[in-house]
Amino acid sequence: MSIAIVGAGVAGLAAATLLDRAGHRVTVFERFDASRPVGSGLMLQPTGLAALERMGLRAEIERRGARIDRLHGLTDRGAIIFDLAYADLDASLHAVAVHRGALHAVLWQAFTASGAGLETGFAVTAVDDHAAGRMALADAAGRKAGPFDLVVDASGAQSRLRDHLGAARPKPYPYGAVWATVPDAGIAPARLAQRYVAARIMLGYLPIGTLDGEGPPLTALFWSLKPAEHDTWRAGFSDWQKRAARLWPELAPVMEALSGPDQFTLASYLHFTARRFHQGRLVLIGDAAHSTSPQLGQGANHGLLDAVALADSLAETADLPAALALYERTRRRQIRFYQAASALMTPFFQSDSRTFAWTRDLTFNRMKYLPYLRREMVRTLAGLKTGLFTSARPSEIADPLGRDLADRLNLPLRHASKAAEAD
Ligand SMILES: Cc1cc2nc3c(=O)[nH]c(=O)nc-3n(C[C@H](O)[C@H](O)[C@H](O)COP(=O)(O)OP(=O)(O)OC[C@H]3O[C@@H](n4cnc5c(N)ncnc54)[C@H](O)[C@@H]3O)c2cc1C
Repeated sequence: MSIAIVGAGVAGLAAATLLDRAGHRVTVFERFDASRPVGSGLMLQPTGLAALERMGLRAEIERRGARIDRLHGLTDRGAIIFDLAYADLDASLHAVAVHRGALHAVLWQAFTASGAGLETGFAVTAVDDHAAGRMALADAAGRKAGPFDLVVDASGAQSRLRDHLGAARPKPYPYGAVWATVPDAGIAPARLAQRYVAARIMLGYLPIGTLDGEGPPLTALFWSLKPAEHDTWRAGFSDWQKRAARLWPELAPVMEALSGPDQFTLASYLHFTARRFHQGRLVLIGDAAHSTSPQLGQGANHGLLDAVALADSLAETADLPAALALYERTRRRQIRFYQAASALMTPFFQSDSRTFAWTRDLTFNRMKYLPYLRREMVRTLAGLKTGLFTSARPSEIADPLGRDLADRLNLPLRHASKAAEAD
């Protein structure tokens, strides 16, 4: 097929590489003149790592990133909110935190090694039906491209193309965060560490390794902030440095070394879950289909898993509507679980509610003493939940049409039923 992918982000680059490898003619359309990553660091969970493994990119990501074994969060009074280790579930599990630039570079290398094409400076504003039922793309200046057999919308949380599916408007979270990349001071080895004051303040420290596998290690530093209060925060930057150092004394040298507010990028978070992931020849992947706050650290992982599931579904059947329905069915339950879990969890960490903060301080750490709940908390963190009461191994989630998971999800697959016949 001739396939257009809108957006050269995590999901778009992964999908382009996989679909090109499957023999399709792929062109990526990116609004920026050069494809570039924004922001600081992110966590690749065991599921996202398994998706990268399928693409042959895991070793390079591990070389650049920092291994994360544990999530550790304390209040300003020293009460433990989280102390969860991936090994509590399975000794072989861990996450890898990376600089966004490192993830982008690794995906970019694989993309440029593929035969897929790239059009930069093309901000797609519309997809139109074209002759013979195929689709064309247009930008605001009236430029056209196409026709294509399939358009993949990987244009992220602010997607406008999904309006074609009658999508509702995304809902902004009251809190976002400012993020900076700074040298790693070694205060939280192999951990995502956080400090909280009620749910109004969250200061986080995530070691992210290096950009290119060389040089001194880096850390992503983040601070919860309402986007509307960004200017006030900037104006009071030096007071904020002292306040953050008081909250986390070990961080004082890091705070003192900051050059100013320009070192930070403001991120605001939107919550949106598409009711449908496809219609006609248009399909949504990544944040275009489902965006949320990064409280559970799953978004990029889901973008990679969407790309794998879409490529696998298109390989499963030449009937396009059936392949897109299979893709949606494969991903829907896991996405629904994580979107709901993220919306539920976020106010406990980023809101003005005292009740949420109080409930969190009283209950979260206690839950881990019940072995079932502890395992469920780690499963959720590791991205292994496939529904409220179900979970799977990372390799199964990254091979969604593989026989084990396909049987459990009751997916009607050619190769699964063939394998069953052979048995
Ligand atoms: C502060 C922060 C921290 C995060 N931490 C984590 C984490 O720890 N773990 C995790 O898994 N996820 C995390 N996430 C979420 C993760 O970043 C996203 O889920 C992920 O980047 C989504 O990938 P995507 O490819 O769908 O969209 P994006 O990465 O947003 O890429 C979209 C691309 O489309 C392009 N584009 C947009 N509109 C158009 C258009 N009209 N025409 C052409 N091109 C267009 C954009 O320029 C961009 O290149 C975090 C997010 C934020 C903001």
